[in-house]
Amino acid sequence: MKGLVKIIQTWTLIIIFIILLISFYNQMEENHLDLGKDAPIPTDLHPVVEENKNILIKQAAAIEIDVVITEGTRSISRQNKLFEQGRSTGGNIVTHAKGGESYHNYGLAIDYALRNSNGEIIWDIHYDGNNNGEPDWFEVAELAKGLGFEWGGDWSNFRDYPHLQMTFGLSISQLQRGLRPDYEENTEE
Ligand SMILES: [Zn+2]
Repeated sequence: MKGLVKIIQTWTLIIIFIILLISFYNQMEENHLDLGKDAPIPTDLHPVVEENKNILIKQAAAIEIDVVITEGTRSISRQNKLFEQGRSTGGNIVTHAKGGESYHNYGLAIDYALRNSNGEIIWDIHYDGNNNGEPDWFEVAELAKGLGFEWGGDWSNFRDYPHLQMTFGLSISQLQRGLRPDYEENTEE
């Protein structure tokens, strides 16, 4: 009987220790990301995304590709409307994300298209306007990845060719909980 009590006591201590360790780790993680719980939904692109978007446009222009940014930060209500497209409303499905589930909702994603030689905005991923034998669309994707963007065209489940995002290591559920990328850390030159 005494032995059993001892075992239970030991295990209780071990379990309490593990729980403390896990909560301490979570606390550390959230402190590191910092960032304000209940942080407001941004209306502008994150400064780092904004800066790299502009660099991308310049880099593409240097190889004679005219990139047009068609989407940036999206409100939750606009995201919900887009989600309904192809579901309860007409058109093709354009997103698998409801309001709050897209990096667009946090100023961390942009969508691009191309402007062809006639000045028209096109979504033709095979267009080779600079005549170098490579589709311009993929050249832009490569440039963007070089700047640290993730490209939706690399996703296996739902390829989103116009989509570029920077997550700063934050998941959608962390963003939904109010975590935001750490400004200072990510804006250091
Ligand atoms: Zn997008």
